[in-house]
Amino acid sequence: MPRSLVLERKGQLSLREIALDQPMGPGDVRIAVHTVGICGSDVHYYTHGRIGPFVVEAPMILGHEASGTVTEVGAEVTHLKPGDRVCMEPGIPDPSSRASKMGIYNVDPAVRFWATPPVHGCLTSHVVHPAAFTYRLPDAVSFAEGAMVEPFAIGMQAALRARIQPGDIAMVLGAGPIGMMTALAALAGGCAKVLVADLAQPKLDIIGAYPGIETVNIRDMPAGRAIAQATDGWGADVVFECSGAAPAVLGLPALARPGGAVVLVGMPVDPVPMDIVGLQARELRVETVFRYANVYDRAIALIAAGRIDLKPLISDTVDFEDAVAAFDRAAEGRETDVKLQIRMPGA
Ligand SMILES: [Zn+2]
Repeated sequence: MPRSLVLERKGQLSLREIALDQPMGPGDVRIAVHTVGICGSDVHYYTHGRIGPFVVEAPMILGHEASGTVTEVGAEVTHLKPGDRVCMEPGIPDPSSRASKMGIYNVDPAVRFWATPPVHGCLTSHVVHPAAFTYRLPDAVSFAEGAMVEPFAIGMQAALRARIQPGDIAMVLGAGPIGMMTALAALAGGCAKVLVADLAQPKLDIIGAYPGIETVNIRDMPAGRAIAQATDGWGADVVFECSGAAPAVLGLPALARPGGAVVLVGMPVDPVPMDIVGLQARELRVETVFRYANVYDRAIALIAAGRIDLKPLISDTVDFEDAVAAFDRAAEGRETDVKLQIRMPGA
């Protein structure tokens, strides 16, 4: 039996064998996992044992940001073959659900998502996955980049929800991994300029190295003054809230131009107040983001075309044997770390 990275309970990880029931259906593929990124949600289950209503009540394999190689295909699979390099979309909806039929399968109440209790994740040697949610990587896209498609997909969803128009000026609050992904997706989506605000200078230095992105350290200058300077006092066409911080949410209306949009990407741990009248007074459009739907092909196309380079956001790659230490490092939340990735044995 292969070994997996198992969250035994809150605060306790182990590398051990765990029995997995992985039946292959006719529409499934079996994949040898190559690279898995560590996500904030994985770390949160490790440190807190729960996210909202999802509680770790039994040992669970972590990980949902993965790439790998197809080793076996079901009888009805036509677009993949053994040996194909792929990345996987970790949420599996019910294809006949009402949400799926509407194209919003990310909010299908029946969706099964890797490493969301009680569903096992992908930090294990092989996974069985629907071919429909498995995407072939072009030669130009590495396994490491393939495992970055999942977090980038959230940025893509945010950019799509914003309905960016060419030449928009956007502001992103929060320079965590998702803020960075959102800023890059907004640029690729047509923004002329994206201002990213945070108080951690190392994070701003990383994202500020990309052309088209300007950074604002809110210790030195309030986000509102920075966007006013950049837009002659008009405001941002789109404000992406990626910090989840209550004061940032409350201050959103002041950052957007009249008739602009605010996109809520970050997830506050507790309910936070919103300035409704502030939103109304500028007739702002409010959009929310939950994971993503129908963006993987576009994300991979942007990476393959060289329009998006996610490699600078991969801070370190560690061997599977050192996965527990990697999780402890991720839990430290170093300001110089964006994404830590784990390379599986034999990969
Ligand atoms: Zn993730």
